[in-house]
Amino acid sequence: MTLQTIKQSSTNQVLLGKSLEELTTWIQEQGQPGYRGKQLYQWLYQKGARSLLDISVFPKQWRSKMADYPLGRSTIHYRSVAPDQTRKYLLRLADGLIIEAVGIPTSKRLTVCVSSQVGCPMDCDFCATGKGGFTRNLKAHEIIDQVLTVQEDFEQRVSNVVFMGMGEPMANLDEVVSAVKSLNQDVGIGARSLTVSTVGIPGKIQQLAQYRLQIVLAVSLHASNQALREQLIPSAKKYTLDHLLDECRDYVQVTGRRVTFEYVLLAGVNDLPENAKELTHCLKGFQTHVNLIPYNPISEVDYQRPRNHRIREFANVLEQANIAVSVRYSRGLEADAACGQLRASKV
Ligand code: SAH
Repeated sequence: MTLQTIKQSSTNQVLLGKSLEELTTWIQEQGQPGYRGKQLYQWLYQKGARSLLDISVFPKQWRSKMADYPLGRSTIHYRSVAPDQTRKYLLRLADGLIIEAVGIPTSKRLTVCVSSQVGCPMDCDFCATGKGGFTRNLKAHEIIDQVLTVQEDFEQRVSNVVFMGMGEPMANLDEVVSAVKSLNQDVGIGARSLTVSTVGIPGKIQQLAQYRLQIVLAVSLHASNQALREQLIPSAKKYTLDHLLDECRDYVQVTGRRVTFEYVLLAGVNDLPENAKELTHCLKGFQTHVNLIPYNPISEVDYQRPRNHRIREFANVLEQANIAVSVRYSRGLEADAACGQLRASKV
């Protein structure tokens, strides 16, 4: 076996992401009694074990023998704290690649923004992540690890997880669904407090619906008509706005859950009152919530964030059509940790 295949096979066997039953089976295969499965489960998901050596309730000799067995944890390569207390993390994965996660505290909650890929293949014009290209999909345990890392660093339970970091979750659906299930069942985060955000890939929203998860699906629309959407999002050419909205309607039917929509506001591009009006037509029939995200600047393009009165005006048009709307001023702007600013190169 080459070094590369050893590495790969060991990442396939990491313990993070396994259920209580799977951990119990695994530990029995290692010649340990079954009840140690529960202990392992607690140390892995609740007590922050980073190595089997950490698990002090296990026999010393066995721990030493197994010290190098991969649990699936990353290491913190860099951390920065914004004035609003948002913390941005660059995490080093087992193969040396770096991803970003963000911890966003509010008075009662701790939200983690997780990455689902290293880089992103979608290349949306206004987003920093796509500018660096796409490297690989994350494994479920690499997503779960981000949540545990932030939880341990804040010493506070994570209440919400949003898949709004680097990457397109629908391009890595199987691993994202495994991570969602484990975050819910093993880490203990309510399904309704988990949000998966997507710009849309044909057939994937339909596929996600089949799992009937109680999560929130957020769809990045960003445009009120096909031509504008194609201008901002290259993948929109092959996946029309109509097709995307059809899949969203089916999703609501199958899951009984609402879909929320995100709309990045770019001054003079998609923020005109006509765009708002057009958007209300697109969203007819949806019981929905629109999150307006005033553009966060990135260096490669020169879009502008609209002035506040334009943002207000846009929101008013939606409200008048009985569409619930929030304006999301992204947290963490000063740490380059806001929506669309995530890239792995910042050190
Ligand atoms: N790929 C997924 C999730 C990643 S980004 C998606 O597209 O939904 C999370 C949200 O941040 C998306 O709605 C994305 O379009 C938005 N975003 C990207 N770049 C941004 C920027 N520069 N300013 C504000 N929001 C941005």
